[in-house]
Amino acid sequence: MAKITLIKAPTDDDWMEVKRRALVTVGKKPVTMPDSEWKHKILEARHSPIRYLTYSFYLEGLPSWVSVHLARHIHAQPYIKSRRNDRQDDYDRNVARQDAPVSMIWDVNAEELQVIANKRLCGLAAPETRDVVKRICELAEKATPELKGLLVPMCEHCGGVCHEMNGCGRNKKKLRKPLTLDQLRDMDGKPDRKCGISEWVSVEGGNLPQKADNGQWDRYLVSVGLTLSYVYDDDIERQIVTSALYDHDQKIWHLDCDMDINALQEMDGSPLGSNFVTHWMPLPELPGKPVEGVRK
Ligand SMILES: [Zn+2]
Repeated sequence: MAKITLIKAPTDDDWMEVKRRALVTVGKKPVTMPDSEWKHKILEARHSPIRYLTYSFYLEGLPSWVSVHLARHIHAQPYIKSRRNDRQDDYDRNVARQDAPVSMIWDVNAEELQVIANKRLCGLAAPETRDVVKRICELAEKATPELKGLLVPMCEHCGGVCHEMNGCGRNKKKLRKPLTLDQLRDMDGKPDRKCGISEWVSVEGGNLPQKADNGQWDRYLVSVGLTLSYVYDDDIERQIVTSALYDHDQKIWHLDCDMDINALQEMDGSPLGSNFVTHWMPLPELPGKPVEGVRK
């Protein structure tokens, strides 16, 4: 079994530099040390300043093929003992077994560490590699308790939905087919108006409007989450309500406040400054009788 040692972990000074990098983007300078809550939040958000945080692992007696798996994570830096025949006498590399032990040092930043955990803690990763990464994650979490809950397999990170092509078996596959209006009506239990929905429908789980007839566009009320600036406190900075023309074919919301939003884009993992339709509902009826000569 490979021996794994954490030889460098982020210091208080490193964390201060992370805060400095986060604040320079909004024209501010840090005054106090970041607290534990802030550390966890920025780690969870995976905002770029956390790339300043480096963990260095010394791995000894690692099967060579496991080192190949680790070296594929292109945002981490590996330094692996050479197997060249002109650099070592332990074996002939042409006939050496793939599990011949190697030593390596691996410099991993805090964002890549989470990505590595997502991929290599997954049930589909090679068990030997998974074991090495599991121990690496335990060492990192010991050094940085704020990582707790963040070094998890991909489907845990995605809220318990597995996006693997054939599923890893740990969580349900993503629900790709939007529910029909009939299904929504059943869920809603309050039939009303032409499409049976009179309350906000969350887009979670792919609940987008379905065509009522053959038309491409329908107008709805939508609630939109705006992420206007570089904030850490909440994913959505402001929530507004507006009307929008929905393009059923292209799955695009054309908001009446002159903004287009891709209905298929998900909030998790999207860049800052992105906006999202979080809920929709059919437009209410016109008040009373329409005025003579005014088109609906
Ligand atoms: Zn999975």
